[in-house]
Amino acid sequence: MMLSSLAALLATAAVSVKAQEGAGVSGPTTVTSGYSCNPATCKLPACFCPSTSPPGGLDPKNIPQFITLTFDDSINEVILPQILDYTSNYVNPNGCPLASTFYISTQYTDFWHVQRMYSMGHEIAVHTMNHVGDPPAGEITGAVQAITTFGGVPLSKIVGFRTPFLAFTRNTYANLQAAKTFTYDSSMSVDYGAVPVWPYTLDNGAYTQCIPGTCAAPFQFPGLWEVPMYTLNNADGSLNAAMDPEPVPGGNPGMPTANEIFELYKSNFNKRYTSTRLPMGIYLHAAVSVTQPAHITGVRMFMDWIRSSGYSDVYWVSNQQLLAWINNPTNIADSLKNPALDCLMPAVDKSNTEVCDGIDNTGSGKIDDGLTESCYYPSLQASFTSCFGCPDTIPNVANPVPFSKPRTRTSVPAAGCPNGGTWNPVSGACVSLVRQAKVTPTTAATTGSSSGPSTGSGSSSSSGSGTGSGKNSATTNFDLQTIAVGIASAILAAALAFGN
Ligand SMILES: [Zn+2]
Repeated sequence: MMLSSLAALLATAAVSVKAQEGAGVSGPTTVTSGYSCNPATCKLPACFCPSTSPPGGLDPKNIPQFITLTFDDSINEVILPQILDYTSNYVNPNGCPLASTFYISTQYTDFWHVQRMYSMGHEIAVHTMNHVGDPPAGEITGAVQAITTFGGVPLSKIVGFRTPFLAFTRNTYANLQAAKTFTYDSSMSVDYGAVPVWPYTLDNGAYTQCIPGTCAAPFQFPGLWEVPMYTLNNADGSLNAAMDPEPVPGGNPGMPTANEIFELYKSNFNKRYTSTRLPMGIYLHAAVSVTQPAHITGVRMFMDWIRSSGYSDVYWVSNQQLLAWINNPTNIADSLKNPALDCLMPAVDKSNTEVCDGIDNTGSGKIDDGLTESCYYPSLQASFTSCFGCPDTIPNVANPVPFSKPRTRTSVPAAGCPNGGTWNPVSGACVSLVRQAKVTPTTAATTGSSSGPSTGSGSSSSSGSGTGSGKNSATTNFDLQTIAVGIASAILAAALAFGN
């Protein structure tokens, strides 16, 4: 790596590892005055009223407990390996890997790393280009264009949005709906004085009162979903925060310890799991994975606890998957085969030639070796990597796709590739991939109201083991993880050597 480009990378990384939203939300909020929604006329799939009860009239005790893990802001080669380190090797009861949601702001983002996360089955969503609260339309649509063009994420797969600083007005939602490509927003907290509810559509306005007056009529956006951000409760019942937990009462001042983070997530999980089974959210700034090791240790402890408890009804899903399930709600047993919770498994056919798709197609240990291009803009101290060519300058609101010359790479089709295939931007064609088989639990599904940590066995179609629990994490081994950690170590070592 050239010294100059390394310096540029470090410059951008130094900026991007600062968490950008702040710790809390700008509450308090209460239920919007005069809000009403009639379930008799507001029906799926077009409309859904806010509700504390599961969709489809299902018994809370017999539906999966969903956990949504989301990340905000830019993503690059400093941050991604840390995230992979704790999101990989986790398998849901239906044999699918954990899927998280990334709300990407394109400034300081390395688009190739976006492509990698997408290729692994995570959801890529929008957080504007320049991390602007109450963003003008160009900040939203420009980010979609840039992520599609340089990150290779099909347009049809980018359907979610979270506003920077969680700061919005009516205009934010008007811009979102005018873009016509979005299914949902996830920027509103529901817990400040309001009863937490399932995601709902904004046909009848916002269920929660935002900044006074902000969500008043005519705050109505038919068909646009709001996926609420659920605020965590402290042990004494007081509110903590939605994103990046704050110090707990009586706990370590300044910053919660890893154990306090763990206990906070665990107690909030138990509260959900034993009552409403409303989705639970873990909302992190991507940079926290680098800047706050204690926080991430707490997250890891919680994930390990869920895993070791052997739940056969707890799913870590993207917000896209959650909404798909709400549109096709199923009990625990039927959720094992619910297409809403289906996933992209890692590619295992190592006989392929290498394709610039974020995947190690040949099994060489080098992802997209020799195929990515490094785009470097010295005057802007900006750089990124892409499989889709280097534009004249960094993508910006005035020109999200700044190419003046013909490109040698071809953009991914809006619909992506069928059947888990991947896009080859050099040949301009879809490539078939052999994907790893799912772990297929046979007896892990719990029935009736006796759901809980499973003691049943489940056989694995890929390993032949018949003695595991519903999840079989040992059989899923992500090659990318080891490589990525190596790269990050090299970069961090270089940073130290240069005195940063
Ligand atoms: Zn942000």
